[in-house]
This record gives sequence, C-alpha cells and structure tokens, in this order.
Amino acid sequence: MENHSNFIKTIIETDLENKKHDQIITRFPPEPNGHLHIGHARAIITDFESATAYGGYTNLRFDDTNPVKEDESYVQAIIKDIKWLGYEPAQILYASNYFDEMYDRAVILIKKGLAYVDHQSIEEIQNTRGNINQPGKPSPYRNRSVEENLSLFEDMRNGKFEEGTCVLRAKIDMESPNMNMRDPVIYRISFAYHHNTKDKWCIYPMYDYAHPIEDAIEGITHSLCSLEFEDHRPLYDWVVKETEMPKIPRQIEFGRLNIENTVLSKRFLRAIVEDHKVRGWDDPRMPTIAGMRRRGYTAHAIKNFILSTGLSKINSTVSINMLEAAVRDDLQDVAYRAMAVLDPLKVTITNYPDDQIEYLETDYHPDKPEMGKRNIPFAKHLYIEKEDFVLTKPNKKYKRLALGIEVRLFHAYFIKANEVKYDDQGNIIEVLVTYDPITKSGSGFDDRKPNGTIHFVEASTAQKATFNFFDAMIIGDDSMELLDRFNDDSWHVKQGYVEHDLINFKPQDKFQFIRNGYFNVDDDSTKDHLVFNEIVQLRSSYK
Ligand code: ATP
Ligand code: MG
Ligand code: MG
Repeated sequence: MENHSNFIKTIIETDLENKKHDQIITRFPPEPNGHLHIGHARAIITDFESATAYGGYTNLRFDDTNPVKEDESYVQAIIKDIKWLGYEPAQILYASNYFDEMYDRAVILIKKGLAYVDHQSIEEIQNTRGNINQPGKPSPYRNRSVEENLSLFEDMRNGKFEEGTCVLRAKIDMESPNMNMRDPVIYRISFAYHHNTKDKWCIYPMYDYAHPIEDAIEGITHSLCSLEFEDHRPLYDWVVKETEMPKIPRQIEFGRLNIENTVLSKRFLRAIVEDHKVRGWDDPRMPTIAGMRRRGYTAHAIKNFILSTGLSKINSTVSINMLEAAVRDDLQDVAYRAMAVLDPLKVTITNYPDDQIEYLETDYHPDKPEMGKRNIPFAKHLYIEKEDFVLTKPNKKYKRLALGIEVRLFHAYFIKANEVKYDDQGNIIEVLVTYDPITKSGSGFDDRKPNGTIHFVEASTAQKATFNFFDAMIIGDDSMELLDRFNDDSWHVKQGYVEHDLINFKPQDKFQFIRNGYFNVDDDSTKDHLVFNEIVQLRSSYK
C-alpha cells in the first residue's frame, strides 16, 4: 500500500525525530456493543497504518467499561472484522482487565484531594453544572475530607450503596469554560453483570477517566480518536497526570467519516437489527463491515476507499458513489466472468440437432488466465433475458434480438429470430430462432455484422439461482425520524439461471455476470440452491 501522508503521520515523524518514543504504539478501542461499520474502518486503518508505517504496533482493546450494553458475541464479531480488513492486532486486551488499577488510581486522586463522593442525583449534578455563560454550582459534598471520601468510595465498591445514590467525581474546576472539566463523574454504581469481570464489581469507571488510564498502561504513544473527543482532551491529560501514570500518551483527534444517506451509528444499526427490519448485522444492505462483506465488497476496496477520503481535522461526508467506484475498481480485477439470465425467456434453435450439446471453451477472466477456463454448454434450448427480445426492432439504436433480426450470443453463434409462441394470455413464452454454424465465436467470421451481442444460458444444464438486489436502506431527509426513514422496499429478488459450472463456487466468490452487474455468492448459497447478491452495478457505459 502506498504511504499516504497525513497530519498524524507528520506528528509521529516529528516525535520520532525528537526521540520522544522508541516505538510507536497505537490502539483501536471499540466498545463491544455492536458490530463495526464503515466509519470504524477509518479509525482501524488510521490506527494500524500510523503504527506499522514506523515499525510499531497496534493493540485491539475492548472498551468494555459499560456492562449493560455489551456482549461477548460482539467481541468475536469485531475481532473477525478487523482480521478480514487485513489487520493483525499485536494484543487483544480488555479495559475491564484494568479495573483494579483504575480503582487504585482513583484512590490516589482521593488522597490528593482531587476526587470526592457526591450524593447528589445524576439530574442534580447535571442541573448544577452551569453552562458556557454560567459557572457551575459546587456540590454540597465537594469539600468533605479525604478520610471520609476514602471510606465512602470503599463502601461504594463493597455494594453498600444503591445504584444512582452516589458517584465519585473528579475535583477540578466548576468554573472551567470547558464543561468536561466541571467535576466530571468518574465512577458510578451499577449492579449489572459484566461479560468479563462477572459480578466482581458494582462500580464502573466512566469513559473519560478509564480511557487515558488504559492508554497509559499499554504504553500507547498516540491515542487516535474521532473529533468529538477534542473537548475531552484536557480531561484526558488531567487524568494521566493526576493519577500519576508513568507513561504519557498523547490524544490526537481526526475527522469522522460520514457517508451520504447512510447512518453510521451502532445505536441505530442495533435498533433496526433488534426490530427485525433487516436480517441481521450482516444484512447486505447494512453499512457494517459484516454487511459489506456479505454483499461482496472486498477488504481491499474498502481500504482504498478509506485512504482516498484522506484524513483531516474535520468531519467529512462523502458520496456512496465513491465507495462503489472503489468496489468496482477492485472487482474488475478479481471477479470471474460468467453468464446469468435474471428474467428468462425460452429460445429454441430450430436448426440445431435435438440431442447435441457442445461446449464453448473460454476464460473466467479475459486478462487473467490464472483464474481458469470454463466450458459454456450450448444446445437447442437456451434462455435469454426477456428484455433482450422485442417483436419489431423499434429503432436503429436497438441492439438486441427482434423478429427477422440477427444477434450474436456471447462466445457462441449468430441467431436470427423467426417466430414466437404465446401463452393463453397472449404473453410471449418462446422465441424460435435459427443459428448459423459458420459464425462461431473465434472463427474469424466477419462477412456480416450482428445487431448487437446478448448473453444466454443453455437450458438443459442451466442452474436455477436466486438473485438479490438492494436499494438504499435509508431514504427521505434529515427532517424525518431515523426509524421512519428505513426503506422497506430495499430488497428485491429475481429467480433465474446461471451457467452450470457455477455450482463449483463457494460463498464469497465474486462474478461479473456479463451485462448484468457484479454479484457475490451469498453465505447461505449451496450447490442445490445458488444465491447471489448484487454487489454493485456495472459502469453505466457498459450497458
Ligand atoms: P457509534 O457512534 O457508531 O456507536 P462509537 O464511536 O461510539 O461509534 P466505538 O466502538 O466507541 O464506537 O468506536 C471505536 C473507535 O472508532 C473510536 O475511536 C471512534 O472514534 C471511531 N469511530 C467510530 N465511528 C467513526 C466514524 N464514523 N469515523 C471515524 N472514526 C469513527
Ligand atoms: Mg463510543
Ligand atoms: Mg458513538
């Protein structure tokens, strides 16, 4: 991968020149409360690329300090997604493993007179914090003695208080222009079961207190995070300093990635999974890594897309077209070529021998012989797309089949339509054609030009297949409630046919179905029931 320069790398290079660090260590710190989405891919790529570019390493650390929302299944899903993106964490760690040290460091704060137990309710604390124009009102418990605080904090830990009855607050500055510095809560009581520490704790540290300690314990040199943490940096630095951490990490913020008409929020994505609006976190419509993988986006394309969006100190919103273009660029190289008929119409070649079948050898990829060869069956009965036939050629631009008109079948012969058969309702159900044996593809025949080239599948060997098509999952505009913007009509299914040999492929194999688009073999596809997901349409100029 190219070495994409950015402002973070510039900072790291300066730190290395100044011998501030021997080795660059970063971390990716997801909360295990949902699956990763494409926004997280920016953070992952930034964290890993910033360290590996300088011979350093990256930890995966689960920020599991909030027991109520977290679950072990998300831990496994996150590990899988990061590996799929192509990154190998140096260590897989849990913030909850540091709970003892965090507790001890809170005791240090108390002893220094820098933390106190507050019996006000969360509402009272919020209501007395003041605002930008108004200083906060000190808690009546703010000036209790170190001894009292030490024993109350121990009581909190030992389960002597009920949830919501008290918290531990840092004692910083109730008049700070930065609201985060107005005596933030650093510990709260919760009797919830924790997936890692089980019932050991009934007090849990708040993110702003826990995160800097986690970073410092692991010797993280550059703690990279998205822009919304910028205002939290003074508190981050305060915690590292006042808890007397021996190593000092530096927080650097970068802009969040947003995609137009796409909601990158685990909370929202979780809501639509739990409401069964989608078929799961890996529903191909989801902007999750798992959803994109199932749809057929490649890790390589996702990485290229993220790097092409650049990295800066402002949030950016990019068009989904940019992501799709990156996907197409990659699929162009890696997708097998084959033929699929999505909306079949029967074709019978009246001058082709009844029991004959021939095999037309061709490549799975025109530029990549290493992707192998395939034998396309050809015989008397075929399927073509319904939309590739009309009774009368409507105009000069029409480059498909019509009565009296001759077209080429890809990799095969010219056929000319002579007659149609109808059902009782008057629908065309079959086209009778003749073929010309001397026009065989590859024979060099060029005495006359066909009226275009269309694709087909031989009928007796054709494999039935289900094709899934996806539209935007989110429609409408920002004035609407998010859940109301879910597009219930965003999944369409077609039943058609593919070439016989496609039964030999497995989930995640990718195809360019000639003239139809790029498709991925779905995770639930089997030899007996082939299922393909449309990944992305072909470039419009291909049609
Ligand atoms: P969400 O709001 O979707 O729940 P989060 O930020 O709460 O996401 P975390 O698990 O805390 O989710 O995220 C891990 C890391 O990923 C954080 O450092 C966060 O800054 C980063 N991140 C999350 N979303 C984006 C995004 N859209 N662009 C860039 N970085 C992101
Ligand atoms: Mg978060
Ligand atoms: Mg968030």
